Amino acid sequence: MRYISTRAKGDDYFSASDAILKGLAPDGGLFIPEHIPSIPESFTLTEGAWYAMYQALLPFFEGDELENDLEEICRNAFSFPVPFHADGGKDTLELYFGPTAAFKDFGARFLAFSMEKLLRNRNENLTILVATSGDTGGAVASAFHGREHLAVKVLFPEGRVAERQHMQLTGWDGNVSSYEVDGTFDDCQRMVKEAFMDESLHDLSSANSINLGRLLPQMAYYVYASSIYKLRYGKDPVFIIPSGNVGNATGAYWAKAMGAPISRIVLACNANKPITDYLSTGHYEPRASIKTLANAMDVGAPSNIERLFALFPDIEAFRANVSAYSVSDEDIKRTIKEVYDESGYVICPHTACGERVRRDHVREENSVVVSTAHPAKFNDIVEPLIGREIAIPKNLYEIMHKPSRAEKIEADYHLLFS
Ligand SMILES: *Cc1c(COP(=O)(O)O)cnc(C)c1O
Repeated sequence: MRYISTRAKGDDYFSASDAILKGLAPDGGLFIPEHIPSIPESFTLTEGAWYAMYQALLPFFEGDELENDLEEICRNAFSFPVPFHADGGKDTLELYFGPTAAFKDFGARFLAFSMEKLLRNRNENLTILVATSGDTGGAVASAFHGREHLAVKVLFPEGRVAERQHMQLTGWDGNVSSYEVDGTFDDCQRMVKEAFMDESLHDLSSANSINLGRLLPQMAYYVYASSIYKLRYGKDPVFIIPSGNVGNATGAYWAKAMGAPISRIVLACNANKPITDYLSTGHYEPRASIKTLANAMDVGAPSNIERLFALFPDIEAFRANVSAYSVSDEDIKRTIKEVYDESGYVICPHTACGERVRRDHVREENSVVVSTAHPAKFNDIVEPLIGREIAIPKNLYEIMHKPSRAEKIEADYHLLFS
């Protein structure tokens, strides 16, 4: 299996391992498979979620340095359940049983275990720099904690992350260091960029959501979940996916292209509308992000959009395959309350965008809203709406009770290396 850049003109090919270690293609594009493979004939659900995901990933690593290690990487990375909240066919897929209670754990953990193996083979070391305004940093810190040959430096703006996010960013020791920067999120991002440009610094890398190693697991759980759904109901579900950088949704499109039983894919967006506007006007315009209650989706210029454009190159193809709807903050609040009042089920603000889109725009009986995070992560928003406290799940509880350590620094990247 070979990979190319979304911007490729000639014939520059990369292995999966190269793509994972590089992150971004040399021409600035994103890595995509030369062609999307089919689900292997031997695919089985009988060995559980992690094994099904391993089989879905295998053709993407055919002939790769990691091929023989893939089974062990998947067993380690996907070591938590992937359950459905069943509701007569209008189900919810709960992707939040990883260590930081959001779907990003799948990708971050797969990337960490894959990088560890590749660096061990090469006897090399890497330092991962992450600037975060909240969610991503916690998933990356947790995934890379304790991985050999890897160190992580997490930068976040002082006083601007929520209390529970702060705990997830600072509850680490050993190879993970946290820096509370006297500045904004933009300062943190600038520091990371400057460090990458400093030629006296070596062996730096990133772990952001465009890395192939973070995207592929998101394909794999759609192959698993759609197959389970089909087995249970005998029908192909519509997947409704809360989206920001559209990495999660791209995984679903790849799964569908592999032959997974998915009838169609619908994107649920918040008030950030680059994709819904593209569908209505035919002009794609990246823009500044708007702050909403579903803050992990506050994205005005989706970083994975080039991968969707590679699948659906013109507006007709895009419209034929992509539906997207925008959900306001008022509707997010209303939906959290409505769902709780009806059934006692508690959902996070991102998942609420998906549920609103299901209720207002999806006519099919067979649908799955993808629940991207545990509601306890957003207790300050959700608890006042439902009028009670949300029990903290074990995975979050464990992180929240680790001692917090962070170094306070000025917004100067040199201080990360002194
Ligand atoms: C990252 C994130 C999203 C958005 O996923 P994309 O892959 O960026 O589209 C949605 N919900 C939660 C909770 C997230 O952390």
